[in-house]
Amino acid sequence: MPIHREALYFGVKISPVPRTGARDRFEPAYLRLHHSGELAERARIADQHLEDCDLCARYCRVNRKQTLAGVVCRTGELAVVNSWGPHHGEEDCLRGWRGSGTVFFSWCNMRCVFCQNWEISWKGRGEEVAATELADIMLNLQAMGCHNINFVSPSHVVAQILAALDIAARRGLRLPLVYNSGGYDSPEALALLDGVIDIYMPDMKYGAANLAKKYSHTPDYVQVNQAAVREMHRQVGDLKLTADNIAQRGLLVRHLVLPNGIAGTEAVVRFLAEEISRETYVNIMDQYRPNYRASEYSELDRMITDEEYRAAVEVARSYGLKRLDRRCSESWVVRWP
Ligand code: SF4
Repeated sequence: MPIHREALYFGVKISPVPRTGARDRFEPAYLRLHHSGELAERARIADQHLEDCDLCARYCRVNRKQTLAGVVCRTGELAVVNSWGPHHGEEDCLRGWRGSGTVFFSWCNMRCVFCQNWEISWKGRGEEVAATELADIMLNLQAMGCHNINFVSPSHVVAQILAALDIAARRGLRLPLVYNSGGYDSPEALALLDGVIDIYMPDMKYGAANLAKKYSHTPDYVQVNQAAVREMHRQVGDLKLTADNIAQRGLLVRHLVLPNGIAGTEAVVRFLAEEISRETYVNIMDQYRPNYRASEYSELDRMITDEEYRAAVEVARSYGLKRLDRRCSESWVVRWP
């Protein structure tokens, strides 16, 4: 989940939130579960999962309340937050005019050698937060006028999010939730999130298992990722926007184009078009930089070319995917007038 930290700022001046009929009527998915008591029950069950962790597709099976030995995500009982704030670098339908309320979690369940956020995801920079503090963050983002709460790298902190969400909902949280993950999510975690998450935004990083193994140490990534995307789409369907083009509910897939065809774009878009929906909203991203340990792999040690990006967008269109993020079209126009 590449992020744009320079676009993140704090202490924004808050002005009244524009109101439209569509926004007034919207009720996020989790409120019903909160009112019925189911959300609290989900949080309780998720907390138990921490003791034999299967909350992402790593299946470490470690008691995270007692030890970090063998815990791939390096996160124990408490979530670690790197930063939070209104983010204006996300897709238009998430950032709108007041920003997407991002919460950047430290550490990660993936191990990408080219990680675009390695100080956060590999080095774990950030501070531990209790459930009440995470709830405070969500409520502050709502008070700032953000359009949504956008959990970045949430796969390894599903239990902590559920606990905080029940508190925040009780205290008035009403924003839709965005689950912005690397797409390496377990069925167990997604079952706990069913009816909780409004907008799933997974990465689809690879189309081939051998490359997922080599560059992210996830040999089963393609299989896990496709199953996760299928389940996410079953839960929320195609992405729906309000009259003012703000995402409200549904699936939004991100695909970062890597040099030398490493991301397997054709396999990814074929899967989306043929097994999910041709109405899938897709952001084909051109912002790859050879960060972290990418220089150790000559095939990853450069930015992508215009031709590589153009070919990725073209192949998505050739499979009938029409809902490509605006920036895909803009890049097309700018690069290939
Ligand atoms: S969330 Fe994933 S990486 Fe972290 S301990 Fe659980 S199974 Fe392992």
